[in-house]
Amino acid sequence: MRGAAVNPTPLSRIIQDTIRKSGPLPLSEFMALCLGHPEYGYYMTRPPFGAEGDFITAPEISQLFGEMLALWVMIIWEYMGKPEPLQLVEIGPGRGTLMKDIWRVIGVMPALRKEIDIHLVEFSPRLQDIQRQTLTGLPVTWHKDISTLPDKPSLVIANEFFDALPIEQAVYYQGKWHERVVVLSPDLPTKEGHSSLSIMTGDRLTSTKEAEIGQIVRDFDSISPPENAIFEYSPQSASFMTELCGFLQKNSGAFLAIDYGDSIKSRERFGETLQAVHRHKTCGLFEYIGNSDLTAHVAFAPLIQIATEHGCECAPVLTQREFLTQMGIRFRAEKLIANAYMEQTKTLQSGLRRLIDPTQMGDLFKVLQVYKK
Ligand code: SAH
Repeated sequence: MRGAAVNPTPLSRIIQDTIRKSGPLPLSEFMALCLGHPEYGYYMTRPPFGAEGDFITAPEISQLFGEMLALWVMIIWEYMGKPEPLQLVEIGPGRGTLMKDIWRVIGVMPALRKEIDIHLVEFSPRLQDIQRQTLTGLPVTWHKDISTLPDKPSLVIANEFFDALPIEQAVYYQGKWHERVVVLSPDLPTKEGHSSLSIMTGDRLTSTKEAEIGQIVRDFDSISPPENAIFEYSPQSASFMTELCGFLQKNSGAFLAIDYGDSIKSRERFGETLQAVHRHKTCGLFEYIGNSDLTAHVAFAPLIQIATEHGCECAPVLTQREFLTQMGIRFRAEKLIANAYMEQTKTLQSGLRRLIDPTQMGDLFKVLQVYKK
């Protein structure tokens, strides 16, 4: 496979040196470095959202999104029998906009708001600082991962978190699964001897990894994958889900995850979805290392399987359009528009359309709800 040119960055040099020293880099390690390298990782150096950033997320599009999630929080709290105290946990809170909107809305239930502590799980110190500014005065505690969350009944939300977790790609080559790896390609040295990078078929999957895939796609038994089929899986999403479900099992509560992806059976899920985005446009995976966002479609089926194995209950996966419509987003929009100026009306209408229109986010984004009594 031909290599792809790399615009030299401090992080591309680190990655190339690592490969030179230690050999091919598993795709998940490449992705983890691009997004989470402590100094140069994409999420460590900038707020990536908004018109000037690289992408825009639902809470940044319209306040309507956070308002509907606040309704979910209030409904589930009631159904849970109003546990005291209650933790509101957000995983990967970005700029903190979603939590700000939720907090504003649950003000209509003072009995709930006075019981709530907010816990944010965020690995980027830079984004933690921005969240601190957005959420000044709120009872917030930050965590780098979920292992330090206090043991209490919890409502947990995550918008566009799973799509940022590293994935692996396996390729079915000569009747066996092999890992895909990032290598240096000597065919395209650039100025300053800067090598290009490419993705290649690496070694056969170890038996542990093969078992991991086998577990995710139990139904592979009934088919033979086509030669060169690519299968994406995310061990890090699986271990996050395992840990979170263990937490819910211990403490009771619910988890609402919204992300772009699908809930189809794993075996229907061959193909590559890993993509890089720079300034609202897709770009080459290696083009802007550390300066482009990397994401992959979230496979909800394995997450549901893990939740079920942990004794949690999953509601059928809904599209974002179905979920927001059920929560009454159209009625809320109408009410806001009735009291809005012309400019605000336009913003509300276009925001609503972006969130629920099937050609925009409405069908691509899915909503997973996990419950544990
Ligand atoms: N939920 C926000 C931001 C989504 S972007 C919104 O909808 O606008 C992904 C977020 O997850 C960022 O805040 C990023 O820093 C955080 N994140 C990504 N990987 C993480 C990890 N492994 N641990 C903790 N936070 C992570």
